[in-house]
Amino acid sequence: MDNQFLRTLKKITGITPLEIEPQALHLCDTHYNLLVEENRKFNLTSVTGPVEAAEKHFLDSFLLLPDLAHLKNPKVLDVGSGAGFPGLPLKICRTDLDMTLLDAVGKKTAFIEMVIKKLKLKQARALQARAEDHAVKYREYYDMAVSRAVAEMKVLLELTLPLVRMGGKAVISKGPGAYEELAAAENALKILGGLVGGVRELVLPISGDKRAVIVIEKVAPTPEKYPRRPGIPRKRPL
Ligand code: SAM
Repeated sequence: MDNQFLRTLKKITGITPLEIEPQALHLCDTHYNLLVEENRKFNLTSVTGPVEAAEKHFLDSFLLLPDLAHLKNPKVLDVGSGAGFPGLPLKICRTDLDMTLLDAVGKKTAFIEMVIKKLKLKQARALQARAEDHAVKYREYYDMAVSRAVAEMKVLLELTLPLVRMGGKAVISKGPGAYEELAAAENALKILGGLVGGVRELVLPISGDKRAVIVIEKVAPTPEKYPRRPGIPRKRPL
């Protein structure tokens, strides 16, 4: 039977410089099938069509792979992972990652945990917690925080940078408007100890949607008072 998801994913990754093992693409297919199945029971994502999901969930997540290329066995945190994006596709491609997928909503972390078990991924875990609370125990613990579609940049910086070690990075995937969000985040960057390391602009091959992968380097320790209490970063952004 024709597998439109896998066929599309192979095709669109094949035209990028990313070198993704065929076995990894098959594991993504299993993740996708579980997503479609569970999405019938409760809403995990609005993007479920095979072509759309291949491009907007999986290829989109792979766009962060170059940022991990120079790191061996890094501790990575996906903040607000939802149905596992971008963290699970990254872990599938890079089995050496020590990956923690964090989300405030239990049904989402239960789904991620189910995928981890089905794919037999080692050194991967889903945690139900708010990033603000997770930072109490895991302050400056991670080599890298990744995040997609969780909050405006200045809010997201407060949810990610306190969890990243000095010299580590927050790598954030954004759609159009990334530069405006970055400009508005100048104060947050200064306070939290971040510096813009680079912005990679990309265009998705099927939809033509624009993406910007923003790399924030942690160049100074984050003051102890950040992150503030759950909900405050969003209510009163820096
Ligand atoms: N990153 C996924 C993706 O791109 O498909 C999910 C995006 S979804 C729009 C945003 C997710 O962030 C939700 O699942 C929500 O529960 C989670 N979230 C929002 N604020 C959070 C916080 N402070 N701590 C942990 N998770 C949070």
